[in-house]
Amino acid sequence: MTEVVLGRTGIRANKNGFGALPIQRVSFDEARVILRKAYDCGINFFDTARAYSDSEEKLGFALSDVRDQIYIATKTAAQTGDDLRKDLETSLGHLKTDRVDILQFHNPSFCPRPGDGTGLYEAAAEAKTQGKIGFIGITNHRIHVAEEAVGSGLYDTVQFPFSYLAGDRERSLIKGCQEKNVGFIAMKALSGGLISNGAAAWAFMAQYENVLPIWGVQSTVELDEFLACQADPPSLTEQLCAVIEKDRTELTGEFCRGCGYCLPCPAGIDIPNSARMSLMLRRARPQDYLTEDWKEKMGRIPDCIHCGHCRDHCPYGLDTPRLLADNWADYQKFMK
Ligand code: SF4
Ligand code: SF4
Repeated sequence: MTEVVLGRTGIRANKNGFGALPIQRVSFDEARVILRKAYDCGINFFDTARAYSDSEEKLGFALSDVRDQIYIATKTAAQTGDDLRKDLETSLGHLKTDRVDILQFHNPSFCPRPGDGTGLYEAAAEAKTQGKIGFIGITNHRIHVAEEAVGSGLYDTVQFPFSYLAGDRERSLIKGCQEKNVGFIAMKALSGGLISNGAAAWAFMAQYENVLPIWGVQSTVELDEFLACQADPPSLTEQLCAVIEKDRTELTGEFCRGCGYCLPCPAGIDIPNSARMSLMLRRARPQDYLTEDWKEKMGRIPDCIHCGHCRDHCPYGLDTPRLLADNWADYQKFMK
């Protein structure tokens, strides 16, 4: 089993992290089967969030008796110090524990700092002093926020989308984490479902010794794929390199990478997901991703006020409002 040391935290985690967002979609009993199998097979890093409905409760339900053998990272989207304290108490209660190993700010539009007026960083530091959290992390979809967090020296871990579709700037972010001894947690290692070859994704990640991927898993079948990679790690053979190259070629041009640099949208549109629906419909089985939540988010596309913010901030030069309109048209056709 390959381990990753998460920067200055010293956490040594199996390089097969468990992303606990998708277990929201299954029952408590199903979640327990999946989580216990993951634990029994050596997975020891579990990433959840206050915002993932009952994901924290399911983790507490399934793994509280082995709490000391695992690492738990959760997230808060609190906007004030008081709200962070409340969120943390809720998380601790749901997780049935008295501490989380990493508390991450959940995709804030800025990099929280002491003295910024929100009280967020101070509240997290206080929780650390009290022993309620081990380390302070941040998750983000905006690379400039992630870069600032790494450079600030304030964060023990950074969580950011990273897959074999990533560009040079993301690779520089990983290098920056290594230089600053900041742990790097990779979300969307399958690019939110656009990548369907788990072996290729695994082999690509293996090249980055400081990167801990968290694979979103909602069934034992999906889990088994990653456990098979863990048992017999695929290497970057010519065949897998060809898969990666094919995907990179296919997913070029007018393709939304889901990076989120265009956020926030004043109309509340979830651009990174909504602008990729057409591709998802072509590349993945709808029953695997087309949740009620995603459908609700798609329904916001017509609310676009054409302010142009997304187009002006997309590093890939996409005409994002038009892309959203095209995706909306494809989606409507599919739903008929
Ligand atoms: S142009 Fe539309 S989708 Fe883009 S940021 Fe403005 S409101 Fe949101
Ligand atoms: S539209 Fe551009 S900036 Fe927004 S998520 Fe897609 S690739 Fe990123």
